Amino acid sequence: MSEISTNAVRHVAVIGAGQMGNGITHVFAASGHAVTMIDVSAEALTRGTDTIARNFDRQVKKGAVSAEDAQAALARISTNTSLDAVATADIVVEAATERTDLKFRIFEDLDRLAPAGAILASNTSSISITEIAARTKRPEQVIGMHFMNPVPVMQLVEVIRGLATSDDTTQRVMTMARALGKTPVEVNDFPGFVANRILMPMINEAIYCVMEGVGTPEAIDTVMKLGMNHPMGPLALADFIGLDTCLAILNVLHDGLGDPKYRPCPLLRKYVAAGWYGKKSGRGFYQY
Ligand code: NAD
Repeated sequence: MSEISTNAVRHVAVIGAGQMGNGITHVFAASGHAVTMIDVSAEALTRGTDTIARNFDRQVKKGAVSAEDAQAALARISTNTSLDAVATADIVVEAATERTDLKFRIFEDLDRLAPAGAILASNTSSISITEIAARTKRPEQVIGMHFMNPVPVMQLVEVIRGLATSDDTTQRVMTMARALGKTPVEVNDFPGFVANRILMPMINEAIYCVMEGVGTPEAIDTVMKLGMNHPMGPLALADFIGLDTCLAILNVLHDGLGDPKYRPCPLLRKYVAAGWYGKKSGRGFYQY
């Protein structure tokens, strides 16, 4: 089996400059890769680049990274509004909005535009890697590379094998995640994989508790923080993840597993309909 060193990966393309996309760009650039961050929105690219600069600044102040290394990493990042920029990528990590139709379209385009040998990874929280892979002519090179938020801080990368994902692709992505300083865990493709299959029902239940008046968001989060030793309560975490993303994941669990226990709470639907997406929109269960 050919195991590449990450030195063989010279150019990384990241699709999406939102909270995940800019974090993924950050960690690849910090570990010496040239990264092109691609988003349909020029404004999202500006915001994403500003966030990366701020996060490097914070790491420098904490003494985690030297000012020279941070400058060098920032210099390795370029941005683009066109997917054509994947033409020289060795690996593409897609982190666009959590919508199935959108991811299918992006992977059809990536398959056409990226070099034949390139790995196409998705940071999807829940959408089937097998189905995404089936949209391409290289399903053995398609894989889930599920980073956690905030990417520069969180250790885990959930590596998801689609039905057709090859051993070689899996090994290369595991090696790459380790070279980023992360701990990869290999799992199989099933709705929600492991992380969100377990996390989202807890968040959903917390939202039912708010809707039914069992407790205020503060009370519910405090019970879970102090009682279960969670670093953050489920409602604060949902706001942080994005309520639109939480709803999309619950819909995938509900449709994919067909069990009513995964039905998204009506209050979550209402918040998303109102544009209350959590931290990124300024309001969710808390105000930001
Ligand atoms: P976000 O809303 O912050 O960012 C999504 C970005 O995708 C936006 O900037 C948007 O302009 C861009 N986009 C939309 N369509 C595009 C296209 N066709 N081409 C290029 N860019 C496009 O969302 P996020 O929280 O960063 O989530 C991104 C992905 O990461 C989703 O699949 C999500 O499920 C997954 N994820 C999220 C978290 C989390 O905690 N938020 C954690 C792990 C994985």
